[in-house]
Amino acid sequence: MTNTFLTIVANQNFKYDESVDFLKNHFYLDIANSTILSDNAISFEIRDFDESKKTHMKKVFTQKKIDFCFLDKFKIPSKIFLCDMDSTIIKNETLDDLVKMCGAEARVIDETSRLAMEGKIDIKSTLSSRVSLLKGKPKSMIEDVIKGIKYNQGSNTLIKTLNNNKFNTYLITGGFKPISTYVGERLEFQNIISNEFEFENDNTFKGTYVPIAGEKNSKLEFMRKLSAEKDVEFKDFVALGDGANDLGMLQNSGLGIGYNSHKIIKDNIETQINFTDLTSVLYFLQIKKEDFIR
Ligand SMILES: [Mg+2]
Repeated sequence: MTNTFLTIVANQNFKYDESVDFLKNHFYLDIANSTILSDNAISFEIRDFDESKKTHMKKVFTQKKIDFCFLDKFKIPSKIFLCDMDSTIIKNETLDDLVKMCGAEARVIDETSRLAMEGKIDIKSTLSSRVSLLKGKPKSMIEDVIKGIKYNQGSNTLIKTLNNNKFNTYLITGGFKPISTYVGERLEFQNIISNEFEFENDNTFKGTYVPIAGEKNSKLEFMRKLSAEKDVEFKDFVALGDGANDLGMLQNSGLGIGYNSHKIIKDNIETQINFTDLTSVLYFLQIKKEDFIR
């Protein structure tokens, strides 16, 4: 049996000794080693971790508003980072923002986007119908959406630090170029994988788009292609996302993380960021705050 890392992160500082005592006394963990990653993040190396303790531990951590991650000591992914855009690296749902500018009828249809992210309806059909609402509208609306983009806390540090740690970083989004290009370049992602709007005469929306990964247009499909191309196994992928269309890539990555995610992701993915910011991904990968790139 190999040792397991348990990383805990909170929005407030931990008292180190108290945290160690708490873990020992409540969960009877055999702690081989520990690393203070920052004032608010500690990693514990647990000997012969008994997985059946997880359910209870998750419950207690959640009550205490602590984000946590269990990771086999020798299975820390280190090669590829796949990151969702809308409601993950940025606060916005950028297609929603565009569609809202199209008026009342559009807003009704727009409700389908929430259902798609919850996995209740098929994402491809809702995407096509929502993009078709943009037909004939000026391309300049994109500028307005870009002006309204708000980045989630920690986004800059996350991508810069992963780049610096030799990760190949991918922004992979069901959102659209050129919005994704803007966000991806600003945050210094090395690659941007995105749907792409089609335009007429370069100034009005055609109401159609070119999908990410061909017919299937899925992030998991792209991941399969990338894995073969780069000869990198899924276990060396880290993926981050919040919606139903991220589920496949999160489930198949060495470390899949939900960020303020929809229920379908919470129900199926163990590691979640619910209380802290995006830099928790770095702590989960055992990177110390003093090594962050800002
Ligand atoms: Mg999303």
